[in-house]
Amino acid sequence: MLGRLPNFIDPHAFADKRRQLSGDIALNQFSRLSDVLSDDQGSVNIQLSFLKNRRLSLIQGDIQTELRVDCQSCLKIMTLPLAVSINLAVVESLAQAEKLASEYDPLIVNEKKISLINVIEDELLLAIPDFPRHEHLCLEPAKQTDVIETTTEPNNPFSILAQLKNTGDL
Ligand SMILES: [Zn+2]
Repeated sequence: MLGRLPNFIDPHAFADKRRQLSGDIALNQFSRLSDVLSDDQGSVNIQLSFLKNRRLSLIQGDIQTELRVDCQSCLKIMTLPLAVSINLAVVESLAQAEKLASEYDPLIVNEKKISLINVIEDELLLAIPDFPRHEHLCLEPAKQTDVIETTTEPNNPFSILAQLKNTGDL
């Protein structure tokens, strides 16, 4: 289902063997993430290394994807590139998590094997901004009033584009 990636991983065994995982997972495999996406086309690229630091099992690496979400300003679909660096230390309890050096994020694991999808999905959900918006001014704040609309700076291509798009939608 995940191509050459395993559905479930044993993080301690993987760390002992210094395993590396790399590959792509289709976005539609992430059910919780799909709920917040405008569409679930595309994939997530993961590059993970499992290793030990003394007795700690670590998962380090990068997760990259491009999500399509609704802009919270104009409600049109926007592309949200995400590049997440992870540095997880596998722990069994909150108490153990609190003792971790600050460079690590805790991954609380109570079972021998965990879902790779869940680990990746948690990281992506944390990385999505609460209110994703276009980087440009996609919505004229005072577009209802003719007076202010005429004062829009004509040399800003984004504001003109936004007006065109808004008009096209009416
Ligand atoms: Zn927008």
